[in-house]
Amino acid sequence: METFKGEAYVIARAPLTESSLIVTLFTRNWGVMKAVAKGAKRLKSPLRGTLETFSRVEAAIARKEHAPLGQLRACDLVSGSLDLYGEWKRSAVLASMQEVLQRGLVEGSQEEETFRLVGTVLDNMRSGIEPRLAWLYFGAWFLRLHGVLPSPDRCVGCGADPRPLLYEAGHSGWLCASCRGDAMGQGQPVGPEAELLMGRVMKSPLGKLEPSAFQGKAANELGSMIYLALAAFLGRPLAARETLENAYGDDAGSH
Ligand SMILES: [Zn+2]
Repeated sequence: METFKGEAYVIARAPLTESSLIVTLFTRNWGVMKAVAKGAKRLKSPLRGTLETFSRVEAAIARKEHAPLGQLRACDLVSGSLDLYGEWKRSAVLASMQEVLQRGLVEGSQEEETFRLVGTVLDNMRSGIEPRLAWLYFGAWFLRLHGVLPSPDRCVGCGADPRPLLYEAGHSGWLCASCRGDAMGQGQPVGPEAELLMGRVMKSPLGKLEPSAFQGKAANELGSMIYLALAAFLGRPLAARETLENAYGDDAGSH
């Protein structure tokens, strides 16, 4: 029996029995781990209130070697997440982030940079950043950290400068006019302004991004591109897409 002790975000939980849950934890040191939270649904359980999605916890998981499921032995709340869910646009972004993490992270593979990305986005949301900007930042960085959002300086087909840019989710990158060929019209065109915005997302800390710059057509292009790339990475559209579109329907633009 091994014990894993350390920081984690609660990513999901599902009922196992009348009193117990299976929780999915995104740990800093071991990536995603699943564990049985025995008795967590009981009123007097010390685990109650610690297992909300995106709660940050100090967890101890005991697990037999190679077992898929551990046992949650202890779980202390570092910071709760209920305060984040009061506002519906933010809730829509949190639901989308949760889905990306749940589907996009491989169990047992350490991803400290992604772990820190989650922390950055949650902290900034808590300080009142515009949720859609947080979503763009999270999406762009999640893709970059998983190697599917290369710098837009060369065509993934031939290496030429592909301007005007067309993001082809099927090719995980940018295609020039000649490599595009028949694919023309299937990708997401990304104009110079949207490219500039992407550059800012990649270079500036989230808290330093100017929310007013991330509105209108260019931000919509960037948003559509990020969405397409995420859906391609995850293998199918996000279930949370509708929630996200409802939250941002006013400026959904190209949808
Ligand atoms: Zn090319």
